[in-house]
Amino acid sequence: MHDQPLNMLWLQSGGCGGCTLSMMCAESPELFTSFEAAGIHVLWHPSLSEASGNAVTQTLEAIINDEVKLDILCLEGAVVRGPNNTGKFHMMAGTSEPMMHWIKKLSLKADYVIAVGTCAAYGGITSGGGNPTDACGMQYEGKRRGGLLGQDFRSVRKLSVVNIAGCPTHPNWVTETLAQIVLGNFTESNMDEFGRPRSYVDQLVHHGCPRNEYYEFKASAKKPSDLGCLMENLGCVGTQAHADCNTRLWNGGGSCLRGDYPCVNCTAPGFEEPGHPFTETPKIAGIPVGLPTDMPKAWFVALASLSKAATPERLKLNAVSDHVKVVQGIRGRTK
Ligand code: SF4
Ligand code: SF4
Repeated sequence: MHDQPLNMLWLQSGGCGGCTLSMMCAESPELFTSFEAAGIHVLWHPSLSEASGNAVTQTLEAIINDEVKLDILCLEGAVVRGPNNTGKFHMMAGTSEPMMHWIKKLSLKADYVIAVGTCAAYGGITSGGGNPTDACGMQYEGKRRGGLLGQDFRSVRKLSVVNIAGCPTHPNWVTETLAQIVLGNFTESNMDEFGRPRSYVDQLVHHGCPRNEYYEFKASAKKPSDLGCLMENLGCVGTQAHADCNTRLWNGGGSCLRGDYPCVNCTAPGFEEPGHPFTETPKIAGIPVGLPTDMPKAWFVALASLSKAATPERLKLNAVSDHVKVVQGIRGRTK
């Protein structure tokens, strides 16, 4: 644990600002109490701080000149390198320098560098569609290590970039990781192979999904409002998506699946371009291409046909309905 509050600077680059909006929905405790309790001092954040213009650039200069200590640098949004690697598509307001130069200079001063959201981590949505702005992540370009800072980059505390991936990130993924850092017990071993904090990516979105009973019997939804499992027809990749969205709920009680939307694996590099519409499941010979990572295809096929043969009538009917049509009966009782 650090004696003094840690100075955190937050910059925004090529993104939509959604991770900040999401973070502002932090609950139990709310955001500012979380920062205070964790011992985080916000040096500057574009949406949370009053300072603007010269006051901000002076702070950035003071960090670069070692007059102000930078403990944590957070970047939200992808690094914009275009055109022709000049970074001039995104100039830092009030300065004559591209944002990507500021990010690089400040990263060299920070004890910890954090990429908040999938754009800052891997390029994300900003790098999709032919990537006209040549966007990339802090230390990744899609699945490939490198990005702006290069694969060998380590922060002052010898840690690679912490990728709090998600589009947007869950507020508590951010506050929890910051708290771990302040406690001084966040190391390389707390990250998975894509640099994501294991506190939330050691789980799958599938865990805790309210549609699990339908999944077990392969009772599948056919259209978005149906109650059934969204894997077979509607593009859900919750069985492969590393995040705890169905056990650490959003905004009090939500998740994509609870809102009738398939998981599109937004914490993964490259999620933005799956090669098919998000709400369609690609299949070969009627079998979904993206099966659970630890299940051999032959087993899945065998289990799926067994499950389908055993699907209770209740689940078959409810799976393709937008409300429960048949309730579970009580054993030993007849209606
Ligand atoms: S809808 Fe997705 S997350 Fe839910 S049970 Fe089906 S595969 Fe799993
Ligand atoms: S359920 Fe999937 S798509 Fe939705 S926020 Fe979680 S990881 Fe992202």
